[in-house]
Amino acid sequence: MVKYTGKGVYGAIAIGKISIFKKQDVSVKRVHVEDTEAEKARVNAAKEASTNQLQAIYEKALKEVGETNAQIFEIHMMMLEDEDYNESIENIIDTQKVNAEYAVAVTADNFAEMFSSMDDAYMQARSADVKDISNRIIANLNGTAAGGAETDDKMIVCADDLAPSETVSLDKDKVLAFVTAHGSSNSHTAILARNMNIPAVIGVGSEFLSQINDGDEAIVDGFTGEVFVNPDEETKAALLAKQKADEEKKSLLQKLKGKENITLDGTKINIYANIGSVDNIGAALLNDAGGIGLFRSEFLYLENSDYPTEEQQFTAYKRVLESMAGKKVIIRTLDIGADKQVDYFNLKKEENPALGYRAIRICLTRPEIFKTQLRALYRASVYGNLGIMFPMITSVSEVEKALAICDEVKQELKEQGIAYSDTVELGIMIETPAAAIISDRLAPMVDFFSVGTNDLTQYTLACDRQNPDIEQFCDTHHEAVLRLIQMSAENAHKNSAWIGICGELAADTTLTETFLRMGIDELSVSPTFVLKVRDAVRNIDLSK
Ligand code: PEP
Ligand code: MG
Repeated sequence: MVKYTGKGVYGAIAIGKISIFKKQDVSVKRVHVEDTEAEKARVNAAKEASTNQLQAIYEKALKEVGETNAQIFEIHMMMLEDEDYNESIENIIDTQKVNAEYAVAVTADNFAEMFSSMDDAYMQARSADVKDISNRIIANLNGTAAGGAETDDKMIVCADDLAPSETVSLDKDKVLAFVTAHGSSNSHTAILARNMNIPAVIGVGSEFLSQINDGDEAIVDGFTGEVFVNPDEETKAALLAKQKADEEKKSLLQKLKGKENITLDGTKINIYANIGSVDNIGAALLNDAGGIGLFRSEFLYLENSDYPTEEQQFTAYKRVLESMAGKKVIIRTLDIGADKQVDYFNLKKEENPALGYRAIRICLTRPEIFKTQLRALYRASVYGNLGIMFPMITSVSEVEKALAICDEVKQELKEQGIAYSDTVELGIMIETPAAAIISDRLAPMVDFFSVGTNDLTQYTLACDRQNPDIEQFCDTHHEAVLRLIQMSAENAHKNSAWIGICGELAADTTLTETFLRMGIDELSVSPTFVLKVRDAVRNIDLSK
């Protein structure tokens, strides 16, 4: 047995077999070849394999996400047959006498650059597609194509690190737990694991992957951050007992379903759920969330290989609103950038992405993207109780501009005779120190604040939330962070706005009493934490 220790990001225990997540290796070397015909034959074989894989992916997508979303894989199959693309590869092999991988990589770069320099947004987005299909061909050429043996068993997925886009594309029904060698517990991958109720341990160290094998038995303890590979019988028995006790405790919490979120002395608070996709609504309802306090809408963009259309977004928002049947649903507008990268946005590489071109900054400078989302949101608003909130606000003028675009969108809908609700609440995230400090100016402009403690901590303490080496300095209980929350709460209430917390700190029950004393009106947490926070609230007496 070998024990590894990292950070547990979702408390639960999983016992099962390891599956090593293979990233596609697309690093390519230029190699001189004599037999160019053989290289061209290799390209054809790799293309054929790629088409077969894409066909299987298309069929899976058709079943799971519907025809509109699946169409992109049909386009990919067509691109594989594109004459200009194939001629370019053959030409490079013939004239430069180089290996197939190199010819595909150069062709991909040339075509991607050509697409991204076009004026039309649709053609620009094809740049990511051509890279995608080329990477697939290269992976097939060098034998690193992802996929591997299909298995019906749930596995413990072990990876070096997982990007949010890789995490969302995993088949959730087959993931028993996540273990990553690197990564930080505040990353969006960790948040996704929590939202998916999947035991997860991250940052177990660089040597981990080289010491494990596919199929090894392992136990993941998401409470302590321990991972046992090939556990001995004694460890196995102890953790099985711990797993049983945890499940019993969780089922006891189920008894709190239907009960109020009320302290012993009668103070009430709303407890809502954070979700990242329409699929998480089931968990929110199952755990008796009073509403959705944060729908991270950017995951709709991460799941797609092109900008989601107004219609696609409308369908998703409508589904969330209808499923929540009149309960509050707060949808955050696109918060892309930093660790949430989407190829087709073609964002430049930045020195400091967390301080860079992201979230509201993208929306205000690319209003066509923002307006498409807002149109979808307002159209969906008639199906429930919608709140819209804007991320990464730092100034009064950003809020003015965002509100003005909302007015424009409503005006357009009115002129087109399309219905929208007049009672949509508008709010902002307080996740920069600037927003908290000028919360007296911002509060009169909006209906509510929602404190994003993940970013608020990062920016207040100058601590990169993605960097595991400085986690000890990212003190989420730091007095500065708590004072900014307190200040925002006072300013919200002075201006008849309400205030919630939707960062991970909202689920920290050692702070529930502090938040209640500050007058926080709502706590929004991963679905599985709703009942735990309810339990904490019901045991607090504020009169003491
Ligand atoms: C936050 O920053 O606390 C937050 C809720 O937003 P995200 O974690 O998606 O950045
Ligand atoms: Mg944030």
